[in-house]
Amino acid sequence: MLGQPSLPVPLPAHLVELIGRGLDLRKRGYRGRFAPSPTGTLHRGNLRTALLSWLDARLRGGQWLLRIDDLDTPRNRPGAEASILQDMNWLGLAWDGPVIRQSEARGLYSSVLSALRCHGWLYPCRCSRRLLADISAPHGGLAVYPGFCRHAGHSWDWQEGRLPSWRLRLSPGELCWDERCGVPGGVDGPTAVGDVVLRRADGFIAYHLATAVDELRMGITDVLRGDDLWSSTAPQVAVMALLGAAPPRYAHVPLWRDGEGHRLSKREGAEGIAGFQAQELDAAAVIGVLAASAGLVPAGTRLSARELLDGLTPESFDAALQRAAANPDQA
Ligand code: GLU
Repeated sequence: MLGQPSLPVPLPAHLVELIGRGLDLRKRGYRGRFAPSPTGTLHRGNLRTALLSWLDARLRGGQWLLRIDDLDTPRNRPGAEASILQDMNWLGLAWDGPVIRQSEARGLYSSVLSALRCHGWLYPCRCSRRLLADISAPHGGLAVYPGFCRHAGHSWDWQEGRLPSWRLRLSPGELCWDERCGVPGGVDGPTAVGDVVLRRADGFIAYHLATAVDELRMGITDVLRGDDLWSSTAPQVAVMALLGAAPPRYAHVPLWRDGEGHRLSKREGAEGIAGFQAQELDAAAVIGVLAASAGLVPAGTRLSARELLDGLTPESFDAALQRAAANPDQA
């Protein structure tokens, strides 16, 4: 290693142009996105997050993009993307422009990874899954990677039938972002984030890398998503800084939990539109249920997404987000 490489990373011309185009788009005003993974049908928590993200964009006269995070192909479910689009249409949440799929941008993520690798920002890690499980936090959350392979000088190639994962050599310092809803956005990089994986040992592009690149190329100014992703923000901010760009603003909204306080899961088939329809609720009733759960309307209200939008202002919406963040258990 040649000492700490300098920032931002020199990028090939096509990436400079792509990111430059995204940064120009940002200057034109609010651009938000909803970015579900097609791992199953959307449950009511995902639907509520989509509604809030759509409202936020529309209240600010902005654009709302739909991105399908479909890189982790073993977890994708056949038909899930179609059902996500159908749900958005049924609820009246129209998106702008074509659907964006991460699977169509694999070459782009690989170019970014090559640039990072070339300029010394990545290192190969050969820690086994078992070792990583042994150092993980008691409740299954992975502890900050202790950097075992940072100076090991492993090969990037196949060895004993395995490729290494590619880890970010995170610089010391704080990673900060503008947070509108949840816990203020700032953590100490080395102790709270560590050297995250940007390319997995199985060759898959990691979520943080793809997400950071996408927020930039799509010109996203505002991300509204579930607060389970709050801790994913710092590594994404770190990658965006390497690419020479500031992060979007974030609003991490409380997750909708089941009666026992557990988070809902698409993969476990938590109830979505089909469940609502089985209770004979139409779209107006479902928008009412989702909006009431976020404190935007009284329970039992029936209205279209458009009517809900017309009854709100950016200020009243922000106030509802603040209330929800202050009382996540009631959300
Ligand atoms: N694709 C991720 C998910 O469905 C969300 C990504 C994001 O909003 O950053 O959980």
